Amino acid sequence: MGSKRKISSERLGPLLVALGVLSFGSAAFGAALQEASSDPAQELFDSALKLYGKGKYPEARRAFAKVVERYPDSLVASAAERRTRPSGFLGWSDIVRSGDSANRVDVVIMGEGYTLDKQRAFDKLASSVPKFILRQKTLAEYEAYFNFIRANVVSAEDGVDGFGREYDTALGGKTLSTYAGHVGIETGLVREVLADVPGHDGQAIVFVRLGVLGTGGGGVATIGGQSVKTVVHEFGHSFFGLGDEYTSETHKRGKVRNAVNVSNTPDETAVSWAHWIEADVPGIGVYEGAAGQARDAWKPTPGGCVMDTGEFFCMPCREEAVLDIYRLVDPIESCEPEALPRASADSLVFEGKDLTFRVQVMEPSTHSLEVEWHLVPEASAPQGPVARGRSGRYGRSRGTRADRGPLGELRGEPVLEGAKPKRGGWHTLVLKRRDLAPGRYRLICRARDATLVRGDRWPWVLKDSEGVLESERAWWVEVPR
Ligand SMILES: [Zn+2]
Repeated sequence: MGSKRKISSERLGPLLVALGVLSFGSAAFGAALQEASSDPAQELFDSALKLYGKGKYPEARRAFAKVVERYPDSLVASAAERRTRPSGFLGWSDIVRSGDSANRVDVVIMGEGYTLDKQRAFDKLASSVPKFILRQKTLAEYEAYFNFIRANVVSAEDGVDGFGREYDTALGGKTLSTYAGHVGIETGLVREVLADVPGHDGQAIVFVRLGVLGTGGGGVATIGGQSVKTVVHEFGHSFFGLGDEYTSETHKRGKVRNAVNVSNTPDETAVSWAHWIEADVPGIGVYEGAAGQARDAWKPTPGGCVMDTGEFFCMPCREEAVLDIYRLVDPIESCEPEALPRASADSLVFEGKDLTFRVQVMEPSTHSLEVEWHLVPEASAPQGPVARGRSGRYGRSRGTRADRGPLGELRGEPVLEGAKPKRGGWHTLVLKRRDLAPGRYRLICRARDATLVRGDRWPWVLKDSEGVLESERAWWVEVPR
């Protein structure tokens, strides 16, 4: 992967946003673009970005410094200034881009304790991360749902705070009070860097050059040194909110916190994976030893999960991973024509014999999403989901797909279902006027990931109470008399 995908870097988009010119209509866009390029401060800033894009980091820093020096009152001066601080953000660049950030999980990889002359080494390390994450079967199945982005963050010094010594680094790397001295960082500083990466999802992986081991939580996976092997485990904490399934004590943790895969009770009906036990799935039960202790904490399997010391996500962990991905990624990527909301008074009116509708769905690596089309007379058109309010997960300002609430069940037989998708995940429905009585109809296309992967007896998700595996697009269609 990677080679056949488009590698882009930070260019005019974010700049134009910074300048406020993207708010003009598309006709004014070209003019604004010209204006931007005739602005000498902007030109210099652009050339600094170009240097950054080429990996000429010291030269880029000098060019940003020039912007500040020559054009201190320009619109780009503050963005340039931030990129010239002894410790701070320098720029971002795609490692793997599978699609628009609006409908992908954007994972931003950054480094701590990487001085200016170590940035190239960081780039190399960062480029190796996607392949480690996607080596995981669960995440590999959803490869097309992820973007990986590199953020270059410069530290003036290379060190990890602790043992009475403080270093000037970008993300406040420190030694935690665990027995082994696990590495940690300042989450707030990571969030500041994320704010410079358009379309991020609050998900970061931070490599601390001189740190050891790793920690993860609240959207930030911190990895000591270059131990990419721990990335998936820490990502399990930071993105999926999973707990530790290992028993060895790393530090005093206090009361056991329940998680999708950890319980402070052995009660089979009260653990968060009770539905797996209820469904009688082999290998799933309640096993003592989790959350870094041998007693009084329980997990779903006797061992082998990546949240223990294994290689794969156990079934309850995998279920949560898939749900979390779908909390951010809509199974439906796009549609033609544009969907019409329930409340819309507009309709697509038959002028000729047919009306054609197309929906593009996401494409997991080895299985396809289920798509079905329903045509319902206006009088019985469903109301649509009832919003549940913001869950506020992942530190994102916008909500997640879970806030939408589950889609209701559709009554009646679908007009089309089970068709094979065309290249790119496209599904097409052609409505024929001669089949329809005059009137107004609601055409609904539903897409759902049944998470049935070949070779597996059980779906990857048994319980989707938020309805995130499902999505729909709908239109009003009018058949004139
Ligand atoms: Zn697990």
